[in-house]
Amino acid sequence: MVPRSQKGMMEHPMTLSLADIFAARNAISGIAVRTPLVPSPAMTEVAGAPFLMKLETTQPVGAFKLRGAVNAVSRLPEGTKGVACCSTGNHGRGVAYAAHAKGIRAVVCMSQLVPQAKVDGIRALGADVRIVGRSQDDAHAESIRLCESEGLIEISPFDDPHVVAGQGTIGLEILEDCPELAMLLVPLSGGGLAGGVALAAKAINPAIRVIGITMDRGAAMHASLKAGHPVEVEEVASLADSLGGGIGLQNRLTFDLCRRHLDDVILVTEEEIYRGMQSIYFDERMVAEGASAVGHAALLAGKLPKASGPIATILTGRNVDMAAFTKVVTGEDVPLGDVTVKGQRHAA
Ligand SMILES: *Cc1c(COP(=O)(O)O)cnc(C)c1O
Repeated sequence: MVPRSQKGMMEHPMTLSLADIFAARNAISGIAVRTPLVPSPAMTEVAGAPFLMKLETTQPVGAFKLRGAVNAVSRLPEGTKGVACCSTGNHGRGVAYAAHAKGIRAVVCMSQLVPQAKVDGIRALGADVRIVGRSQDDAHAESIRLCESEGLIEISPFDDPHVVAGQGTIGLEILEDCPELAMLLVPLSGGGLAGGVALAAKAINPAIRVIGITMDRGAAMHASLKAGHPVEVEEVASLADSLGGGIGLQNRLTFDLCRRHLDDVILVTEEEIYRGMQSIYFDERMVAEGASAVGHAALLAGKLPKASGPIATILTGRNVDMAAFTKVVTGEDVPLGDVTVKGQRHAA
């Protein structure tokens, strides 16, 4: 593993192995929780195969991002004054929590697209919050600027080997709890989660199909995989707000991991995500954010390939905007920037 330079940048190409993911598991235990993998009777019936849910919604900050953040903070050089990051909300919350636990400063840069509930959650953990611009790229530029001017170390939300190794621990746990798993569904944005989880799962069982799922508008990793190199896409508001943002034209790690280890990427519409969120609420009796619902969304939309055995999806977070969430479960329209997701009642 390559050490960080003073400015928090990696100087060499990075490689990552199953051993790094096992090391991350040791580093995060005691702060991040080993989450349960539970069956969904309703989705098992729809899928015609056992359907399991990994409940990252039960992490202390309400999302899996705590794993990568805690691992990255545990690897900071001795004497680090503080850290900075950009975030669509959950990474910032994880970094704020991990930095607080270590007693160092955290500055979280976010765009105006980030829901207020997420901003408030980060402030409550004692981090400095900067709201800049209309995209993740704007927030990222501010985070880099702060690192240079204030001597902070940047923790990327996905393109950092320690972050990816931390997220990969989810793959270890799923395979321990269900060694016969046939298909793993992973919500996909920057690819830190999908890259780490797929690396771990396939190192343990190369026959597992790992499928990234994301929204059909503004999906940077999907567009990049199709193009064969990292590309930029326009960021738009989505019910799956945690899946917004680019992968970075200078992507060092996750583009390659996703290209090597993902078997497929499935796109879901806002209406399908809406139905997925309703299903998690009414069928599973759980609250989850839009990004968590893409596995349910793809299954209910008939977009999943047939599985030869158990299927698992990751409920990645529960930090939903409650006003928008209430509209979804009561079947109302949800305005999203320049589009409106048409309301529909859940067919119970
Ligand atoms: C960050 C995030 C994702 C996507 O993870 P990437 O590593 O960026 O692909 C999915 N769900 C939630 C809730 C997230 O916060």
